[in-house]
Amino acid sequence: MSETRPRKALIIGAGPVGALTALSLHRRGWEVEVWESRDDPRGKDAAPSNLRSINLAISSRGLEALRSVDPSLAEQFQNEAIPMKGRMIHHVDGKQESQIYDPINGQCINSIGRPLLNQRLVESLPSQIKIRFQTKLSHVDLNHRVAHGSSSTRDKKEVVTGEEHDDGRIAGGNSDKGKTKEKEDEEGTSFDLIIGCDGSWSKVRNSMMRMDRIDFSQSFIPHAYIELHMPADPSKPGGYAIDKNHLHIWPRHSFMLIGLPNKDGSFTLTLFIPFSSLSTLNSREAASRFFIEHFPSAVQIVGEKKLLDDFMNNPRGNLVTINCTPSAWSSHALLLGDASHSMVPFYGQGLNCGLEDVRVLNSVLEKHKITSTTTLKLGETDKDLELALKAYSVERHADLKAICELALQNYTEMRSHVLSPLHHIRRFLDSF
Ligand code: FAD
Repeated sequence: MSETRPRKALIIGAGPVGALTALSLHRRGWEVEVWESRDDPRGKDAAPSNLRSINLAISSRGLEALRSVDPSLAEQFQNEAIPMKGRMIHHVDGKQESQIYDPINGQCINSIGRPLLNQRLVESLPSQIKIRFQTKLSHVDLNHRVAHGSSSTRDKKEVVTGEEHDDGRIAGGNSDKGKTKEKEDEEGTSFDLIIGCDGSWSKVRNSMMRMDRIDFSQSFIPHAYIELHMPADPSKPGGYAIDKNHLHIWPRHSFMLIGLPNKDGSFTLTLFIPFSSLSTLNSREAASRFFIEHFPSAVQIVGEKKLLDDFMNNPRGNLVTINCTPSAWSSHALLLGDASHSMVPFYGQGLNCGLEDVRVLNSVLEKHKITSTTTLKLGETDKDLELALKAYSVERHADLKAICELALQNYTEMRSHVLSPLHHIRRFLDSF
């Protein structure tokens, strides 16, 4: 007689999508193991670090997904986030113009610290989930369902210049990452299902693409993004130098600056600018002229020295759209989050959609009555699970393609159309 055993999921990446996936499958009764190449974020100060974009906007799409796994998570994040009820447009002459997102129902998006969100999600994982930090998937044998990881230990800090980050950014100036020593696990780890939550440059996806005919596209926009910091102003209420309940935009047609509020009164500013223009700003003097001409109000608030220090030293990030379909292979592999659909950030929906993947997957597993246990031996194909994953991939594809396109369209909207006098009338009519 065949033995009944729990299904085992190996999740690669403990970013927000990987952490929520782990919690969701654990709650369904699966055995779950997670590998994450970075350090354990638990119990650390979730202050700004060298992670991508210090804060991001979480919308009702993301909150609903969190709620579907654990209602208390959504409530916790809503309490820790800052609601943004509209955009604040900053004109060159210093005039500010508020454009409310939803004047009728008052819906908001919410600014939340990325490290905090990630840390809280990882902290929510119970001890039965095995998490291996500083462990990078190096290769996976999808046919035999065995993954090999390499564990890294970091030497003492040393300055590295021009180093590539895991997320594809290139360090602009000095980065404080130390050299790593890697140790390969030769035996490997078995799984029923490997889930690639390993971001835009997914290794799981690379392995899947060697197994089958998977349609894949990747395109970069000409713009880079660079993060800058607007410190809190102790003379202002709560430290906020500009209104805390808006997403701030300095639109300048071919480039723009945006600002999202943090709890401590500071704002994370992000400059989006074509790489071709960046190459002309390679000296402090040229950069100073650029900021004073185009963003005088930001220079005044942040201070020229601080703004230029950040601009000269911080990494230049790429902005990529990635589509991949199908996002599942057999009953053995699945992609969620940026690993399956990376989008430009102008619609603020990349992470929200990744979290939504988890909610939709959960409902598909439910619909297909995928139980937490199986009598199949490791290595045998699970036909029911294969059908469920196929259904998930089909159900998700059109929505994800549409939102990637909307995100690209909003790229022009945010840089230019928000400046059009007709914009308000169009938005007013659109709200009916
Ligand atoms: P990631 O956050 O990329 O996490 C992947 C994880 O996998 C990482 O922890 C990484 O260390 C790990 N990993 C990678 N490779 C391996 C490996 N081989 N082995 C083990 N671990 C590995 N989205 C929004 O919804 N709202 C916003 O306002 C927003 N703003 C953004 C602003 C900018 C400038 C950018 C660039 C993006 C923004 N996004 C936003 C998009 C959002 O950041 C991503 O969609 C989100 O981070 C994707 O989450 P993820 O868990 O799928 O991937």
